[in-house]
Parts: sequence; C-alpha cells; structure tokens
Amino acid sequence: MVDPDEHTVDELIEELDTIDDEAELNAILEAERGGRDRKTAREAIEERIAAVGGEGDATEGEYEETAETVGDEAGGEEAGDGELEEEAEEESATAEEPAEDEDEDELSHPTRDKRHVRALEDGHYEDVWVYCETQEGELLDVSKEMLGKARELMDDYAAEFGDEENVVAVVIGDDVEGLAEECLAYGADVAVYHEDPRLERFLHKPYAEITAHMARGQGSAESTNWREYDEPRYFLFPATNNGRDLSAQTQAELDSGLASDCSGLFIGEEEVANPVKTGEPGVKKTFERVLHMKRPDFSGFEYSTILCLDNPGRDFHPQGCSVIPGSFEPIEPDPEREGLVVEHEMDLAEDWFRVEITDHDRLEAGVDLTGHEVIVCLGRGIGDDPTQGIELGLDLVDAFDDAALGITRGIVTSSYQFEGHVEEYTKEERQIGETGQVVAPDLYVAAGVSGAVQHKVGMDESETIVAINTDPDARIRDFSDYFVEGDLFEVLPRLTEAIEAGELRLEAVADGGDD
Ligand SMILES: Cc1cc2nc3c(=O)[nH]c(=O)nc-3n(C[C@H](O)[C@H](O)[C@H](O)COP(=O)(O)OP(=O)(O)OC[C@H]3O[C@@H](n4cnc5c(N)ncnc54)[C@H](O)[C@@H]3O)c2cc1C
Repeated sequence: MVDPDEHTVDELIEELDTIDDEAELNAILEAERGGRDRKTAREAIEERIAAVGGEGDATEGEYEETAETVGDEAGGEEAGDGELEEEAEEESATAEEPAEDEDEDELSHPTRDKRHVRALEDGHYEDVWVYCETQEGELLDVSKEMLGKARELMDDYAAEFGDEENVVAVVIGDDVEGLAEECLAYGADVAVYHEDPRLERFLHKPYAEITAHMARGQGSAESTNWREYDEPRYFLFPATNNGRDLSAQTQAELDSGLASDCSGLFIGEEEVANPVKTGEPGVKKTFERVLHMKRPDFSGFEYSTILCLDNPGRDFHPQGCSVIPGSFEPIEPDPEREGLVVEHEMDLAEDWFRVEITDHDRLEAGVDLTGHEVIVCLGRGIGDDPTQGIELGLDLVDAFDDAALGITRGIVTSSYQFEGHVEEYTKEERQIGETGQVVAPDLYVAAGVSGAVQHKVGMDESETIVAINTDPDARIRDFSDYFVEGDLFEVLPRLTEAIEAGELRLEAVADGGDD
C-alpha cells in the first residue's frame, strides 16, 4: 500500500491516479489521518474514492462541490467540452447525495452550499486575453492601453518561453468587426468578436455569458479552431464601471479569482510556502509564469501584489485582473499589423435581455481640469475651516491667468459642511487621482494633501509640484519639487499675495528658479 507520509501531496495525487481499489484508497485515507493528516491530501484521497465509485467522506475543504451544474446556468450551451460536462455531471451527482457524516447543524457551516463545479485540474492554459470595452463605436482608451501592456508582457514572455502564445482581444457589441480589426493594430494577435444588435449597450448577463463562453473555448468550430487550450492563462479587464462588473462575473463563471483596480503587471516566478498552495506545511513550491498584479492598498500608501495561484488538485485560471485606466501606454497603432479576426457564435437566450434600455441621457460633461497651466488642489488639511479653506484655494486660482481648483477624494467623501457658493467646488467632478481626473499642469499646488497613491497617480506627471503641509513627514514630500512646512490657512494667502504682487512668477517656479 502507498504510504502517504512518504509523499508530497503532488506525488500522492499522481500515485492515487493509478489506484482503483476502493478498500486500498480507504486504507490510505486512514493512514493519512493517523499520520500527517494534511487537509489537501485527505481531499485528494476522498476525491479519488468518489471517482472510483465510493461515497467518500464529506469534504471539509475550502472547495466543495455544487448542486448546480454549469449546463443549467449556461442555458444548455455547454456543447463541445466533454471534460467540463463530465466534471459538472459527476459533481452534481455527488452533491445530490449528502455524505453520511455530514454535520446536522447547517448553521455551523454557513458556506456549506458554496460549491464549485467548473474548477479544472491540470488544465491547459495559454494566451493573455484582453476585454476591449467600446463606447459609441470606438475602443475606449483603456482598451488600447491594456492591449499595449499585454503586447509588452507577451513579447517578454516569448523571449523566455517561446512565441506560441498570443494576445487575444475580446470585443462584444453591435457591429464591432471593424473594432476587432483595430485591436490588431494596437497589439493583438487574435481578436474574437461577438456582434448582435441587442448588444449595442453593455448588459451584465449576456456580456458575461458570452465572455465566459468564449474563454472556455465554446462556440462554433469556426470560432474556436484557432486555439487548443481549456481557458486563457491571463485575462485583463478595464476597471471601468462596466469592466468591473464584467470582470467579477466572468472570473466567477470561470471559477477563478480577480485582482481589482490594478496599475502594475508583470509575469515572473514565485516561490511560496503557504500549505494551501503547496499541499503541506514546511514545503516550498515555485510557481512559474505567475501574473503579478499590483494595486494600491486601501491606505493609499503602499502597493500590494496579488497572485492567483493554483491549489493542489484545483486550478485558478485565468489569472485575472481589472486595470485602472491611464496605468499603461498604448503602443503606436500599426494598421499593417497582421492577425486573426474571428467571429464568435453562440445562441443568446431571450431571457438574458429582460433589461431593456428604452431611453438614455448624457450627463453634463462636468469640469475638465486638464489643459490648465496651474492646478491648485486642496485636501483634508482644510478640515479646521472647510469653507474658508476652499475660499483661500479659489483666491490663489484667481491670482493666476489660467488655473483651476481640484480636490482630493478625501474632500469628496468627507462630511464637511460647506457654506454658500463654495459647495459647488467640492464635488467628485473636481477629484484628482486614480478614480478622478489625471492632470499634468506646469504647476501643481497641493495644500493639505497627504499624497496617497491613488491621488499621486492623477498628478505626478505635473511639471512642478509644490506641497503645503503641516506634517514634515507627509508622503507627498517624496514626490514634490518644493515642500512648504506650514499651515495652509497661513501659507495660501501669502502665496496669493506674492503672485498678485508679481513677486512670484509661474515661469520662475516651474523652471525651478529661486525667487
Ligand atoms: C479604490 C480607491 C480609489 C481612490 N481614488 C482616489 C482618487 O482618485 N483621488 C484621491 O485623492 N484619493 C483617492 N482615494 C483615497 C486616498 O486613498 C486617500 O484617502 C485620499 O487621497 C486622502 O485625501 P487627503 O490627502 O485630502 O486627506 P488625508 O490623507 O487625511 O491628508 C490630509 C493632509 O493634510 C495635512 N494637514 C492637516 N491640517 C493641515 C493644515 N492646516 N495645513 C496644511 N496641511 C494640513 C495632514 O498632515 C495630511 O497630510 C482612493 C482610495 C481608494 C481605496
């Protein structure tokens, strides 16, 4: 009999595949329980017992099976992928018959009904996919930016692993074949599109169903014969309203994870010691070709790197993320660039179009802060007297020929009470940063702004940055050209006076002069 103690979980899984005798498998399970008692090992043995026909013990792992089948959810559109179908049927059958020693007290297992059906094991993954969002017949800028980044990633990837893998653009909408072709110019090797007049505007259900269907390699033979893999290796979505919605649903459909709002990406290997990932404590395992997805953490001062790594016996692919607009540069489009444009085919259920858009209105464009010579930005440093703080900022704006007032998100989300006309300057339309506007004026005056990463990405391309802050250790100091340690309620009026009196000229500050 195989002694599980002598094997890593990965080795054990290989051994188990060769054993069909249920009694022997049960003995191995007992040996594991009496020995190292590794959760992942127990799960692997139980799975094997179930596969050879036994009931197995109740799984107590993170990933239980589901009572629903993919086929039901996807409206019977599961044709063409035998492996997935088989898995779904097999697992739904298991789920219908609760195991004998299941805990009676359902409440003590609030996640009991959270079960997985589609997770692949030892799946075959290739390519980086990019969901290219469109609006009014054009690719959004962020779609071009993601294609540029995907191109860069895959060019580096090709240098290390060979050039078989592609950048695949996904375009969905009404009359989008031309846009799919445009994706080639922006760096895609393959562009898969699905067009239908009903898809003119983003609709959660059909867009998610189509994207997941494409990713699983389903569709007509013509629309899928360019690829031979189970699912994409990586998947990038835009962190726009629609992209955030689609990315979460699609990655869930594909039974993988999602790192949202990323602004840095690279592919590399990673050594980890987490037993959930390695299969057992004290063992290190190197994962290759891992997409490192960097995103600012909630404090706004540090970046976290998110990894989406397989578990033993359960894959997490595609490794997916949503990408903050403006994070990457598109490549110079080359209309001569060649590639493959493929139409995806799938029957769309009427039921998916229950939401009908009968009318739409365009919101006022709001305030455009880009293109000014000077931006005066106020942060929560105005807290002692918010109305006066905004007044002082506006005075400074008026002192310049071409300036505008911006604010941090800290102000937008504050509960400050503003009086009079000042309030109109405190709305989201003036927010600068990751989820606001990106500006790059000649001069950026940041008063009472701490310099969170999410703010920084909206202003650090400014020619000259002047920060006014009472805290000499404020993070903004690290990326300011001039740092004035002081109270904005005192410094701003003096700055305004100096500009009005012609004592301080914009050109001099921007040139780094010392007057
Ligand atoms: C997903 C996400 C997206 C985000 N997007 C954005 C975004 O687009 N833009 C954005 O700005 N933020 C964004 N944020 C919020 C961001 O993390 C910070 O919370 C925010 O930028 C802080 O605003 P602040 O600098 O005004 O406030 P604080 O961080 O509170 O800083 C106030 C600063 O004022 C100084 N100060 C206090 N009193 C005075 C005084 N009298 N004179 C001078 N200085 C004084 C303090 O020393 C401090 O440095 C986002 C956060 C998340 C999680």
